[in-house]
Amino acid sequence: LYRIPEKGCRYRVKIKLLLAKAKARNGYRKSNIERVEESEAERAGSAWLKGDLHVHSVHSDGDASVGEIARRARQLGLDFVAMTDHNTVSQLRDFGHTAGVLLIPGEEVTTYYGHMNVLGVKEWVDFRVTSERQAKMLIKYVKDRGYLPVINHPKRLGPEWKLGNVELAGYVEVWQGVWEFNNYVSLKLVDDLLLRGSWVGIVGGSDAHKVRREEEAGIFRLGHPTTWVNVEERSVRGVLEGIRKGRVIVTENPNGPFLMLKAPKPGNLKVFVEAQGAEGLVLRLVSQGELVKKDVIDSRRFFKVYRLRLPRDGGYIRAELVDPEGLVDELHHPDVIVKALTSPLRITGSCK
Ligand SMILES: [Zn+2]
Ligand SMILES: [Zn+2]
Repeated sequence: LYRIPEKGCRYRVKIKLLLAKAKARNGYRKSNIERVEESEAERAGSAWLKGDLHVHSVHSDGDASVGEIARRARQLGLDFVAMTDHNTVSQLRDFGHTAGVLLIPGEEVTTYYGHMNVLGVKEWVDFRVTSERQAKMLIKYVKDRGYLPVINHPKRLGPEWKLGNVELAGYVEVWQGVWEFNNYVSLKLVDDLLLRGSWVGIVGGSDAHKVRREEEAGIFRLGHPTTWVNVEERSVRGVLEGIRKGRVIVTENPNGPFLMLKAPKPGNLKVFVEAQGAEGLVLRLVSQGELVKKDVIDSRRFFKVYRLRLPRDGGYIRAELVDPEGLVDELHHPDVIVKALTSPLRITGSCK
């Protein structure tokens, strides 16, 4: 799709011209996308929607149609799916087949030096980027249009992201496929950026390519992980806004475990943690790249207030649930198995 072997390759292009009224300038019917977006826009009154933000269809190297993916997502209980085919937006033509699932237009901008999802696209985005300078221009271009760039799987075998500008993009796919697939590297990148004072949001994505033949999906199964977004409105705009506001949780699968972190007042030392379906897991609170609190979830519906000593001059705090069988005292270690992650919360002002 974007790599040509050194020897080159033989190919044949078959073009079939049909006599039809020109419906689109960009290769798909714009009105179709807008119609879907509008019909799905329902006021949800601040609800948690769950979905998968990274999926491939037959429009690139996936094995299922948009309709099949939407139906499977419905079965899994997902509310939304971002269709992020490699370097194309032709899948947007099929957005009529939603099966009640909110489809988010996307493109995985796939370069020799890393991959970036662009969510909310309304047109094809050029992937021919070869330098940090060009990546900067591209990220600015997509942000100017109101699209949301996410640096995908910035870790070993992701493949890695070598085009810099992560802070400029502002969002990182911190969890791709099963947690054990080197995701601790992406989480370390996020913690390092936050520690330096840059603000980045997190999302997850399965990167599923096999949805029709799910038994062959291996570590990239639809809905694994699941990204939960708190939205004001059940629409593409609502989901993107929720991500922009950092109202995001990433969990192992569509059933959770659910985890919520709240700091009622910025600068307050009190944080509230709520967890559901997480009994026996270890809760960890991370601030300024360090583990500041560890606790065991002892009930199905867990709610607790923690008083912490947080940095006086601002910073961040985030929560995660980890498997008690792994190393529970180490951060960013391959043997720590994360089950759920919250977005970082900003600590501002001076703490008393
Ligand atoms: Zn990728
Ligand atoms: Zn992908």
